[in-house]
Amino acid sequence: MKGPSVVIIGSGPSGFYAAGSISKKLDSDIDIVDRLPTPFGLIRGGVAPDHQTTKKISVAYTKTAKKKQINFFGNIEIGKDVSIEELREIYDVVVIATGSEIDNKLEINGSNLKGVYGSAEFVGWYNGHPDYVNLEPNLNTENVVVIGNGNVAIDIVRVLSKTSKEMLDSDIPEYALNSINKSPIKNLYMVGRRGPIEAKFTNVELREMGNLKNCLPIVNIDLPNKLEGDYSERDQRLIEKNLETLKSFSLIEKENKEKKLNFNFFQKPIEIIGNDKVESIKFEKTKLEGTKLKSTGEVTEINCGLIITAIGYKPKEIPGLKITGGVIENENGRIDTGFYAVGWIRRGPTGVIGTNKADGELVADLINKEFKNQNKDGRKSLIKLIKSKNLKPTSFEDWEKIDSYEKNNAIDPAPRKKILTIKEMLNLCKI
Ligand code: NAP
Repeated sequence: MKGPSVVIIGSGPSGFYAAGSISKKLDSDIDIVDRLPTPFGLIRGGVAPDHQTTKKISVAYTKTAKKKQINFFGNIEIGKDVSIEELREIYDVVVIATGSEIDNKLEINGSNLKGVYGSAEFVGWYNGHPDYVNLEPNLNTENVVVIGNGNVAIDIVRVLSKTSKEMLDSDIPEYALNSINKSPIKNLYMVGRRGPIEAKFTNVELREMGNLKNCLPIVNIDLPNKLEGDYSERDQRLIEKNLETLKSFSLIEKENKEKKLNFNFFQKPIEIIGNDKVESIKFEKTKLEGTKLKSTGEVTEINCGLIITAIGYKPKEIPGLKITGGVIENENGRIDTGFYAVGWIRRGPTGVIGTNKADGELVADLINKEFKNQNKDGRKSLIKLIKSKNLKPTSFEDWEKIDSYEKNNAIDPAPRKKILTIKEMLNLCKI
């Protein structure tokens, strides 16, 4: 018996895990639609260019994409080219996997000044994401402030600290590498509003900061010798590891390091100063009373020409989706009958790439329970709709052309030289 027709919106990790799980449970035709001509979402545009091992997960997604029942339709934007309503009319099942791609805004005076960027924009810029290749952030500054104590903040300070030699085996675009190389950056400040115990970055990522060729990590507070408080065994182990790593930074050879990465804790941003562009940022010292963050009234200021906020994300609004509190309204992945959500749009921007696997399983189980056979013809109607609207979709084979072209153009040991505009991608595929 033919299973329900399924369309998944978004081809990042959550979309691909959902496709994989559904295809194992049901004999369904599954279409994955993405607004970009290329698949893999955050893997291509979000995971840092020097974290190629993490990007290798796309090999598994490629296996999923090559299953007979699965089709990729790139270059189709849901909410603009085709509506959610239209998809719900022609498919038995619609799965939303569009993630959280909009930066949370730092709600303080001056945050709209030139020179202040959100991490989605900045990471997109150094990853050659077509939306951000023209960002042109001003790196002509000695001091850079990155706000947030998560893994995205760590990624940003690491990419800004590495030498071009350390980036050789990355797929950072030439314009971003040149801009970072030419920049006079001397001091990077990674600023957390709470302390090292509460920081969200993980230990593997933190440890990398101790192995940088030209950058010295410096911790600007006394670190606790003993962890006090009520922590689960796992949390205790992870926090202690981070504290150990932060302490170990003081033993690093200081010679020959031109850049300094300052870990500033207990500093809450309160105002960004500047006329036409950012000149400095003010912080208020904080302290924790239990879990409550309290301001002490003590103000400090850092002169800087570039500020990047890495303080989390929210989903992009798409007509037909109800977003509340940064996630789509859903109950364990179910929005409505035949309408489901997976990944960051379902549960917020947390966890690692593999966390999305469980989301895929969850939704595949729900679909399996609620739908047994096909009522709507899905793909056939989508192709008709695409033709009637004169849209120009890319297929997975088109992506493979782009992929080969990028790999063939890379200078060893770089894994690829990314094509930077949608126009060039479509030209290459003769679309
Ligand atoms: P995150 O881990 O949630 O960290 C966000 C940081 O922003 C926190 O330190 C938070 O502080 C701070 N923050 C939030 N609002 C703020 C405000 N108004 N002022 C000052 N600070 C504020 O988010 P993320 O770094 O964007 O990462 C998203 C997810 O992707 C995470 O699960 C992360 O582990 C994952 N990721 C993983 C990797 C990797 O594995 N290598 C790489 C990148 C991302 P509070 O804690 O005080 O709220």
